[in-house]
Amino acid sequence: MISRLFHRPWVALLLAPLLLGGCGNSANDELVIVTTTTQITDMVKAVAGDRVEVVALMGPGVDPHTYKPSAQDIAKVGRADLILYNGLLLEGRMEDAFAQAERKGIKAYPVTQAIPEDQLLQPPGFSGHPDPHVWFDPALWTLCIDVVRDGLTEIDPAGKEVFAENAAKLKQEYLAVTNWAKSRISDIPEESRKLVTSHDAFNYFGRAFGLEVMAVQGMSTAVKASSSDRVKMVGYVKEYNLKAIFVESSVNPEMINGVARETGVQVGGKLFSDAMGKPGELETGSDGETYDVGTWVGMMKHNVNVIVEGLK
Ligand SMILES: [Zn+2]
Repeated sequence: MISRLFHRPWVALLLAPLLLGGCGNSANDELVIVTTTTQITDMVKAVAGDRVEVVALMGPGVDPHTYKPSAQDIAKVGRADLILYNGLLLEGRMEDAFAQAERKGIKAYPVTQAIPEDQLLQPPGFSGHPDPHVWFDPALWTLCIDVVRDGLTEIDPAGKEVFAENAAKLKQEYLAVTNWAKSRISDIPEESRKLVTSHDAFNYFGRAFGLEVMAVQGMSTAVKASSSDRVKMVGYVKEYNLKAIFVESSVNPEMINGVARETGVQVGGKLFSDAMGKPGELETGSDGETYDVGTWVGMMKHNVNVIVEGLK
């Protein structure tokens, strides 16, 4: 209706002050924020509260490395007021859509822009392509909250205080789960702190919590593992006599199951790597605590519990 009226310039002039004046302090729920991965969606919802609408492109179980945007996704990106994504080429096939949106004047920020370059991991052979799995280092992921808070404030200035308050609260939650995880991981004997997974998503986790990390596949699932990768992994599992190796919720388990069959090691369980669980899905850990695996906090608790139970 409004867009049709705007074809008559004088109506637009009459209506403009009314429309602009409508913001005030109330929630600005006509603003649309487009997010990519489940980790980012959870963070944005926590900071935004109910002030804006959050439209997530990737759900639980979706692999962001290979995710190809649908025509509907492109349309959602084109209608966004703000796009918040991981960056560092995690959403490799969406880069074009984001660049196109930016040319139209839509604000698009990779949340990882807050992380100083010298804190990013640069895997050997990938120079200039930092490891994108930064949500597994709580200290780095906490820095990303600021990008979300500032981006939301930019498009909804009236929400500034709400966003600042929610961001501060979220940082406290992240700190609490980090301290919990450190103490839980200390239950694993030092020589057993070796984490084997399908693809190389856990290097930041390993650095943050003191585990040696090995993966059958490389940093991106877009590159398939070779048979020599598999032979290497079988050798590693046997050499260190590992108690457990792990599959991932967003990656085909075939390779890890194959290594398990060949070595006799048990599959310790399913970790959330590049996608978290379904929001609202509750799980109770061995210490009796219940958490939502669709949140970053719950995802960390799930992973740490599965890893500790498998390796200790
Ligand atoms: Zn990954």
